[in-house]
Amino acid sequence: MASTLRLAMIAHDQKKDDMVAFAVDHAEFLGTCDVVATGTTGGRIEAACPGLSVARVKSGPLGGDQQIAALIAEGKVDILIFFVDPLTAMPHDVDVKALMRLAIVYDIPMALNRATADILIKMQKSGRTA
Ligand code: PGA
Repeated sequence: MASTLRLAMIAHDQKKDDMVAFAVDHAEFLGTCDVVATGTTGGRIEAACPGLSVARVKSGPLGGDQQIAALIAEGKVDILIFFVDPLTAMPHDVDVKALMRLAIVYDIPMALNRATADILIKMQKSGRTA
């Protein structure tokens, strides 16, 4: 693991508000991390967290989810926070499966909802790796 924690953050559809709320609540901690996000998610996080720098890949539908998956394959992501919207039809289904599969292959801690994301951050803050 790199000395700076590398977080990847993606929120689909109506889950973007949840991701922004999560980022605001943990803004100070996120400021100690290298954060990469898909385009719109990253823009929303930056707008809500002044001073937080977020590296942005493409928007998910244009390949951003898979760019994050490639970063995982390259060993450049330590934690994946991936809020999939379970109440929409399945337009992102192939991207969701591909990204989750790579996170599983490379054994990356992966939070698919707010409760788990909070636990991962709490563990990191207390010095326990996930
Ligand atoms: P976005 O990408 O953050 O650019 O919206 C995520 C997605 O919806 O796939």
